[in-house]
Amino acid sequence: MLNTTSRWDSAFFNNVAIGACHALLHEDIQRVAVLDFDVHHCNGTVDIFKDRPEVLVCSTFQHPYYPERYTTIDRPNIINCPIPAHSDNSVFREAIEKQWIPALEAHKPDMIFISAGFDAHKEDPMADLNLDEEDYRWVTQQIMAMANKHSQGRIVSVLEGGYNPVSLAFSVQAHLEVLAGF
Ligand SMILES: [Zn+2]
Repeated sequence: MLNTTSRWDSAFFNNVAIGACHALLHEDIQRVAVLDFDVHHCNGTVDIFKDRPEVLVCSTFQHPYYPERYTTIDRPNIINCPIPAHSDNSVFREAIEKQWIPALEAHKPDMIFISAGFDAHKEDPMADLNLDEEDYRWVTQQIMAMANKHSQGRIVSVLEGGYNPVSLAFSVQAHLEVLAGF
């Protein structure tokens, strides 16, 4: 999640963080994961959870890029995956496979939250990464597999970004199709 003024709800209220904190109040939820594939780094989420080891935060983001905060933080529960501008999608997929998945396997979250921003799409005007809807389908499949293995399938996904209405629509469709089991 990005702390910005362009989306007032997520600027002032970190909905995913609130949800994660609420979930942790439940006796069955000891550990959670927040997974963020938005093109911006989730600096607000890291700020909230950097000293709460029961919350694993994994973020892929364009780097260097706004916001430049907490991108070099050293905490075992913060998995930062900076991706250079104009990288092809293999860099993103490698970060998921080599950093997110091992961290999730170790953390074994009881519930997974997704900060689902789709502004890393190649047709999105916000930044310069080159994902497409098939990458979003793929990463959702990876997350689903982790949720089914460790979290009894518990996933909450919150839309947090995407500024080209057409690519956003196709990306959300791909994401939802996987979540819905299509
Ligand atoms: Zn964003």
